[in-house]
Amino acid sequence: MLEISENVVLAPYTTFRLGGRAKFFARIKTAGELLDALSFAREKKLNVFILGGGSNVLFDDAGFDGLVIKIEIGGIEFQDETVIAGAGEDWDALVERAIEKNLWGIENLSGIPGTAGAAPMQNIGAYGQELSQVLLWLEALDTANGEVRRFENKECGFGYRASRFKQETGRFVVLRAAVRLRADGEPNLSYRDLFRRELRTLPEIRRAVLEIRSSKFPDLAKEGTAGSFFLNPVVSPQKAAELAARFPGLPQFPAQNGTKISLAWLLDHGLRLKGERAGGARVFERQPLVIVADKNASAHDTRALAERIKKEVREKTEIELEEEVRVL
Ligand code: NAP
Repeated sequence: MLEISENVVLAPYTTFRLGGRAKFFARIKTAGELLDALSFAREKKLNVFILGGGSNVLFDDAGFDGLVIKIEIGGIEFQDETVIAGAGEDWDALVERAIEKNLWGIENLSGIPGTAGAAPMQNIGAYGQELSQVLLWLEALDTANGEVRRFENKECGFGYRASRFKQETGRFVVLRAAVRLRADGEPNLSYRDLFRRELRTLPEIRRAVLEIRSSKFPDLAKEGTAGSFFLNPVVSPQKAAELAARFPGLPQFPAQNGTKISLAWLLDHGLRLKGERAGGARVFERQPLVIVADKNASAHDTRALAERIKKEVREKTEIELEEEVRVL
């Protein structure tokens, strides 16, 4: 039986630990419960927000005047080299299980907070691996007609930290995802932080990635954050050349539709924004793509800081930054 709570404080459900109350809040463990929750929202004409691990969202201080549905669909099932995970499973727990089984393909994605169902929404990526390289298919509920639909990899519209599900936010709710791993993989050490190291086995790579992440990113147990707040901009090759001339040393990488520039470098060395503050929110000292919220910070502080960064980047480079975090 679906239980719907009222006036639930949202902050503990997000890694930013910010945000007011949700008017209604439901945890769902099956597609049937999801349908019940959606019809409750329809009857009451409520806005709906689908929540996974809360690691990529900034709720407003005023809360959410609608129904927040927390996806807790469980289950991790291995079939040879394929693993099928319920959308509510913790992503990193899935990576850990794959490594225990000696399966390659997602080891560089160790330590990413969030759920397996949220992972395809933004096509999570780190250290040269992307979910889109290994996702076989996913099953999602189409909220437009209540039907469960299966999307093969090619139908997911994957791009750089993007997918059709993110583009059509709110329409599809991921229920399960299948990932194709390999028993005979090999290390992908293409990123600077990894290639200097002698890493051969899956547990070695996982340990190294977790170590690097914890040295560069805030400890979620101590500080509020949603990781990278903005996406690295992808610009035209002409624009990249112009930026390289103005900011010597700016790292650039070929991307699908142009040239990807390192926003962390630009914010730090180019615009000197490291340590910038707005109230209780600050640009993280060790990784300026990350905004950190102190215990007494508000969502308002965090948004104000993000807006200031966007303005500074716009004025100095004419680049319009795009948030990776969903800001409500
Ligand atoms: P880094 O290794 O210092 O590199 C800085 C930026 O340059 C990264 O954003 C990365 O882009 C890009 N880059 C570096 N080497 C590259 C290569 N060989 N080919 C293509 N692009 C390259 O970055 P970092 O901040 O420590 O992060 C390491 C990885 O973890 C990155 O992939 C980052 O995206 C990922 N990460 C993501 C989050 C998040 O919240 N989304 C949080 C932590 C880490 P990409 O970002 O496109 O890889």
